[in-house]
Amino acid sequence: MRDDCIFCKIIDGRIPSASIYEDEDFRVILDISPAAKGHALILPKEHYANLYELPEDLAAKAMLLAKKLAAHMTEKLQCDGFNLVQNNGEVAGQTVFHFHLHLIPRYKDGDNRDLLTWKQLSYGDGEAQALAELLRYPKA
Ligand code: 5GP
Ligand code: ZN
Repeated sequence: MRDDCIFCKIIDGRIPSASIYEDEDFRVILDISPAAKGHALILPKEHYANLYELPEDLAAKAMLLAKKLAAHMTEKLQCDGFNLVQNNGEVAGQTVFHFHLHLIPRYKDGDNRDLLTWKQLSYGDGEAQALAELLRYPKA
C-alpha cells in the first residue's frame, strides 16, 4: 500500500468508492468520471504502477475477470459493445499510477464522439515488414 496513491486508499477504504466486485486479488470500482454509464476499473489490491510491473499471474487473472465482468455488465446494462482500455505512462494517458484496467460499456445511442479515436497513419514501402522483423517475438 502506498500512502501517496489514490487507488491504494480506495482499496483499503480510506477513500470511498462505488464497488461492484471484490476478491483476494482485486477490487472493481465505478470510475468517478465515467466515459459512459457503468465505466468501471479493475484494480489489483497490491500496488503495481503499470503493466510492466504487474506480475504475470495477476495479468492473467485481470483479463479473466474482465471477460466475466464484460458479460455480466453487458447483461445488466443492456449495452451494445464494450471496450477494455489500459494506459501505461503519462504519454499514453495514464493519470493514476496504480495499474488499472478500464471496462467501458458502449451504447449505440450514446455519446460516442472522440471516445477512443486516433488519427490513422500509414506505412511506406517495406516499412511494415522491417518493423515486423524488429518486433518478431520468439515463441515461448
Ligand atoms: P488513467 O487515465 O490513469 O488510465 O485512468 C484513471 C481513471 O481513474 C480516470 O478515468 C479517472 O476518472 C479515475 N479516477 C481518478 N480518481 C478517482 C477516484 O478518486 N475515484 C474513482 N472511482 N475513480 C477515479
Ligand atoms: Zn496504489
